Amino acid sequence: MVHSETTTGILNDIQSVGKVVRDAGRSFIVDAMSSFGGVDIPVAEWGIDFLVSSANKCIQGVPGFSFIICRRDKLLASEGKARSLSLDLLDQWKGMEKDGKWRFTSPTHVVLAFSKALDELMEEGGIPARSRRYQENNRMLIEKMKAMGFAPYIEGSHQGPIITTFFYPAGVSFQFSQFYNYIKERGYAIYPGKLTEMDTFRIGNIGEIYPEDIEKLTGIIAAFLKERKEQAA
Ligand SMILES: *Cc1c(COP(=O)(O)O)cnc(C)c1O
Repeated sequence: MVHSETTTGILNDIQSVGKVVRDAGRSFIVDAMSSFGGVDIPVAEWGIDFLVSSANKCIQGVPGFSFIICRRDKLLASEGKARSLSLDLLDQWKGMEKDGKWRFTSPTHVVLAFSKALDELMEEGGIPARSRRYQENNRMLIEKMKAMGFAPYIEGSHQGPIITTFFYPAGVSFQFSQFYNYIKERGYAIYPGKLTEMDTFRIGNIGEIYPEDIEKLTGIIAAFLKERKEQAA
């Protein structure tokens, strides 16, 4: 199951699903790519057997490898089942236990960046502090966007703190590419393109982003709307 669902921004209830999976005696694999590090996940308590994440999302490292936090007994039970040489997790784990090495060329720069990113996460106050920052940025973003007439696509109770989908504003001649470029020229990048059938766009808030960035971004968006309205008049 995907935890933070990046096409819409939903934060799925993996705790409830984990309970069902455990009661059924099945394995629970969670794609926590865009939540781990930014949302607290009590892995063992929620019955997660395999949690998959990567260096380049809420840990704030650079792209280059993923990691899996898992139950050792389940990992050992996967012996001989891998259908891919390079993605044979058990084989990789055994290799690392033996000599600490990647089986193929190591992503050296990425590992160094990851180590630095973990130091920075600790300096920030760990996952609880990062989670608060992301939540606050996200809350502020939604509040300011709503005030300008952008309604969120996802109901508040399912909205996660990582990425938010908004409807195009009503009553404004709105062209996404123009909107995107206007923001980019002024120093911020939002997700390029829409993913739902509806007229929506997305704004992500993973990374070194602070309330002043949300202020600036929403200020740029307000200026864009003002210009569009003036041109239409
Ligand atoms: C980003 C993301 C992925 C893919 O991660 P890559 O680093 O691009 O391989 C997969 N699942 C989710 C939910 C994501 O957010």
